[in-house]
Amino acid sequence: MTITETRPATGQEQNSRHFDVIIVGAGISGVGTAYHLTRQCPDKSFTVLEELKSFGGTWLTHRYPGIRSDSDLYTFGYRFKPWIGAPIATAEEILSYMGEVIDENDLARHIRYQHKIISANWSDKNNLWTLEVIRRDTGERLRFTTNFLWMCQGYYRHEKGYTPEWDGMENFRGRIVHPQQWPEDLDYKGKRVIVIGSGATAATIVPAMAQDCAHITVLQRSPTYFIPARNENKLADQWRSLPERAQVPGRRTAWSPGRLPRPCR
Ligand SMILES: Cc1cc2nc3c(=O)[nH]c(=O)nc-3n(C[C@H](O)[C@H](O)[C@H](O)COP(=O)(O)OP(=O)(O)OC[C@H]3O[C@@H](n4cnc5c(N)ncnc54)[C@H](O)[C@@H]3O)c2cc1C
Repeated sequence: MTITETRPATGQEQNSRHFDVIIVGAGISGVGTAYHLTRQCPDKSFTVLEELKSFGGTWLTHRYPGIRSDSDLYTFGYRFKPWIGAPIATAEEILSYMGEVIDENDLARHIRYQHKIISANWSDKNNLWTLEVIRRDTGERLRFTTNFLWMCQGYYRHEKGYTPEWDGMENFRGRIVHPQQWPEDLDYKGKRVIVIGSGATAATIVPAMAQDCAHITVLQRSPTYFIPARNENKLADQWRSLPERAQVPGRRTAWSPGRLPRPCR
């Protein structure tokens, strides 16, 4: 699955402006919500409004070196499509997984990309949300209405990550890069790099950059702890090696040997 706009809504679907449900965002939450709506409320009309050019949300926005999940995909992935790869996945793998969910469940026709919601107003009188939307590709302003607004917009600003201001920042003669806006052409080969912070992003970026830059230093305010580990789940591997009848009866598990013929190490 390439990261492009996939099969936008067409014909009548494209022209509709009122829906029983409007989902904000086509990240992991919005796509999951769309799936469940098609199963649990097949009679309800709905659309997903997404301001980016494609699905993925977090996994589309972040393109820094080594970008990957922090938690395992057995729990991060959808229950209706058990994850069958190694526990920790790259952004590319997560996007590909989400693309499969969209394709397998014919969800693309429900998603409108490049539709940014700029306001939402509730009317008690009409029992209705009215959304003002700007199409980022054409600049057109649209108005949508819905009875149920389902917020799957995530928890941070995709357009621009937070950068603190420090005295003298403007005098720094090197380049300052925020991982959320990683320049595609950034060449750090042979550079001396300082990474500010020691959270999950630093834990991802430092080993990935260390291979190419001349030197890399982490600046941290508070101590943190890392344990290098293999990208595997011993319990999952053990379950895979058991005959299916030895597993939880009557339930398909994420680690069913039939679905997972090989260990993930
Ligand atoms: C680098 C990184 C790694 C992470 N790893 C993990 C992990 O391993 N495990 C974990 O549990 N969590 C992880 N998280 C947290 C992660 O963001 C969430 O778990 C999850 O991906 C969020 O999905 P979401 O669909 O709720 O939101 P998002 O992925 O943020 O998607 C929201 C979507 O809504 C769209 N949107 C927002 N506002 C509007 C608007 N006004 N109009 C139209 N569209 C709009 C956005 O464009 C976006 O596509 C990670 C976060 C980051 C940044």
